[in-house]
Amino acid sequence: MSAGFSISEEALFNKTGEGVLRRLRKTRNPMELLNVLRSARKEFDRAYDEAPAESRAAVACRAGCGACCHVLVGVQAHEVLIAAEFIQKYFSPEDLEGVIARTKEHRDAFAGRWALERAALKLPCALLKEGSCSIYEARPEACRSHHSNNADTCRSNLDLASGALHVTIPGLHGRMFAVMLGTDQAIAEAGFDGRAYDFNSALHEALTDSQCAIRWMQRQAAFPDSCREVPDAADGEYGEMVAEGYFQ
Ligand code: SF4
Repeated sequence: MSAGFSISEEALFNKTGEGVLRRLRKTRNPMELLNVLRSARKEFDRAYDEAPAESRAAVACRAGCGACCHVLVGVQAHEVLIAAEFIQKYFSPEDLEGVIARTKEHRDAFAGRWALERAALKLPCALLKEGSCSIYEARPEACRSHHSNNADTCRSNLDLASGALHVTIPGLHGRMFAVMLGTDQAIAEAGFDGRAYDFNSALHEALTDSQCAIRWMQRQAAFPDSCREVPDAADGEYGEMVAEGYFQ
């Protein structure tokens, strides 16, 4: 794996991927697969806790900010299914209806647009509530992995046309990215859907079609192409993790 990892980040990538793949292969009951991936998220907390103290001290993220929840959130299918399960379990019927309506608006606004056009819309995530994440325990990996060293820069980015943001924290960003990539690569190695989806579009599908979870368990594409994270106009390629035999 290249991805510009340091030696310790590469080790973290391998350790995470091997652990997740081992647990997925041991799981015989398909209904337990999402539980395996839900508990694998503790690796993000561990990677954070074991990051250098000066990196953790540089984190400017605070509850109630939410500026980063207006950017594109690319996910894999299992992340959407975990979020959908959480919403269906804990949200009131009214709140569930609200999320379905907002994800539909989001999906309609994104339909037919390239990635740069989508980014320029700066749409709030349908799960952002009064500046905080309403599914914090079940939030996607990209949200868990993101930390900023400057909340003012994040806020001012909302007013700019550009989506470019330079707020990553050395010593932390690579570790979180290694866990995210290791997890996602293990899922692809185990034969599950490795396609990249737009979180809000796929969440709308998951909340309105119970077959998505079944397709995922059967190692098929969980969501239709209309939910995919589109490429930049320049590169023209859809994101997808494929099995490459990284882990034993
Ligand atoms: S899932 Fe939560 S943390 Fe992630 S973008 Fe949406 S509101 Fe923000």
